[in-house]
Amino acid sequence: MLQDILHKVNTRVKKYKKIKAGHYLSPCRRIEKVAPLEDRYCAMTFDDGPCAMPHKGNNNFGDKELTLVLMDILNKYDAKGTFNHIGTTQYNYPDDKPAKNTKTWINNIHDHYPFFKYDEFGGIINQSWITQRLINSGHEIANHGGQHIIFGKVNLISNKRAYLGTLKNVVQDLVFFHNMLYKDLGYSAKLSKPPHYIDKINNKNTSYDAYNVMGYNYLAESYDGGGWKSSCGDYTKDVEDMVNPLVKALKDNPNALNGQIISQKDGYNMNRQSPIADALEPQLKALKENGYKVITVSELIKLSPFEDLSYKDSGFKEARALINAGYICAYPNNTFQGERYVTFGEMITMACPRDIYLSITPIKLRRKDIEYKYDDVVKIKLNNNLESHKYAYNVKYALNMGYIEMDYLNKTKLDALASYQEAKDFIRAIKVDNEYTLSDALETINQCEDSRVNIDRTSMAVAIKRALL
Ligand SMILES: [Zn+2]
Repeated sequence: MLQDILHKVNTRVKKYKKIKAGHYLSPCRRIEKVAPLEDRYCAMTFDDGPCAMPHKGNNNFGDKELTLVLMDILNKYDAKGTFNHIGTTQYNYPDDKPAKNTKTWINNIHDHYPFFKYDEFGGIINQSWITQRLINSGHEIANHGGQHIIFGKVNLISNKRAYLGTLKNVVQDLVFFHNMLYKDLGYSAKLSKPPHYIDKINNKNTSYDAYNVMGYNYLAESYDGGGWKSSCGDYTKDVEDMVNPLVKALKDNPNALNGQIISQKDGYNMNRQSPIADALEPQLKALKENGYKVITVSELIKLSPFEDLSYKDSGFKEARALINAGYICAYPNNTFQGERYVTFGEMITMACPRDIYLSITPIKLRRKDIEYKYDDVVKIKLNNNLESHKYAYNVKYALNMGYIEMDYLNKTKLDALASYQEAKDFIRAIKVDNEYTLSDALETINQCEDSRVNIDRTSMAVAIKRALL
């Protein structure tokens, strides 16, 4: 079926991009899964709610709103969900009525949640009380777009399909949701998933650019819970198709979902049924029987921040402390790559707080084609054309803090590997008063001296953590 094929193509493209990503450290990380912990943890994301329409399926939950049905089941299992809510689809008109029992959304201009002409039963504009109930129960709310309009045009899908197009429009749409959630409910979202997972924005921008403006991490998924698919024609089998693969995966390997993010649908599938409400309990039961704790994505990444750095690896605790304290030490694909040698620019960036980086409009340094004014520091001309370098503002911060000297900066290249001596000088310069002495902080770098000229990222993270925290 077309939607399955498109989903597979999209997943494959994402995999390819993921391999390609990871050249520069990034304040925005795409969180797809994390390295497994000793105890079993996973997260569940619920897309496209809130939904104030009742469940349509086998179990009888009366008139209760679907999102609250899901919440009650989660609460029963002491599980915390991450709800990827939307602002509203009520302005997404005029639009054509979808064909009855349509198997795809491809022929529509827009999405409508819960469905066409019933938009006011969804979205936080009309149903913020549901969002409030979730927040009160300790669930996480993420930003799935103000109007659930795809960011960029994807030719493969449809010429009819509306898209936001420019980065400005995308940011406006995200801000619309963010501010509503913040003003009405005092809640600040930290994560966002693009509608239909489409990253492309005009002028070679991507979701990452938009999320950097917002200060978000990119909410992704590693395991498809399946509730969004159209019906096979037999509702009971639809539910089984959501439960059985998960049960089997855990039977084959009880650790299979440790650190994973399971995506779910907070709404109706394309046949206007909600198999999630019948499948969620047996799914949670299977997870519980296998010793899992279902926690929010933000909690999950606090415990295990990186995809490739396990609690068993050296430097895990230090790198985790550093990133949880707000420093930039992961690549966009959320890898840590501890074996890799650290570059001079990375060394500076790892000691730069994410909030400071984001507060100076990171878009300025990421894209030259966006209108902006350089401030004083980026006017500094360096041999490696600093003002267009991705780490330009981190360098500004390091200069202001006295971590590096202008003279020195003129002689080096940000993308060159940092030498043993440079790393030592840097640690000396950033050392603040804390429980670690300078020799503690330099210890891991000193260990590198005998064997090599350059420093691996794990050793650097340990040293910076000891110097700063
Ligand atoms: Zn969606």
